Amino acid sequence: MSDLTDLYQSVILDHNKRPRNRGRLPAATRVATGDNPTCGDNCTVYLRLDGDRIAAISFEGQGCAISQASASLMTTQLKGKTAAEAAAAFADFKDIVTTGRQPEEFSETAAFAGVHAFPARIKCATLGWHAALEALKQPDQPSPS
Ligand code: ZN
Repeated sequence: MSDLTDLYQSVILDHNKRPRNRGRLPAATRVATGDNPTCGDNCTVYLRLDGDRIAAISFEGQGCAISQASASLMTTQLKGKTAAEAAAAFADFKDIVTTGRQPEEFSETAAFAGVHAFPARIKCATLGWHAALEALKQPDQPSPS
């Protein structure tokens, strides 16, 4: 079990050190920002939809390792999904971080199960996801580029 714990910790460290899809998305048609003042985290999510699917997604932000690693993971999980699928993926992730439920099979989202022992950090872990779902609710804006 401690091997698994190490593996999960390395997932979070890796996303923190080498964030995926970080930076402004030039062709974004939707943007939403979330703040977590209790920890000092913020996260802006950029989206571009192709039909009803997320064709491209990126984030920018600052804050604790949990918030930034979770936002990075979120971009990898939501790319290619519809708004309904993204909401389902978030519900699953939120269940993992609030209950500590461990899926039977290894998944990167399960790396965040340990967060449930630190309730104040749940907002850190869900910050980027909330911003993404907020962006999905918006109407399309004209692309700046
Ligand atoms: Zn935080």
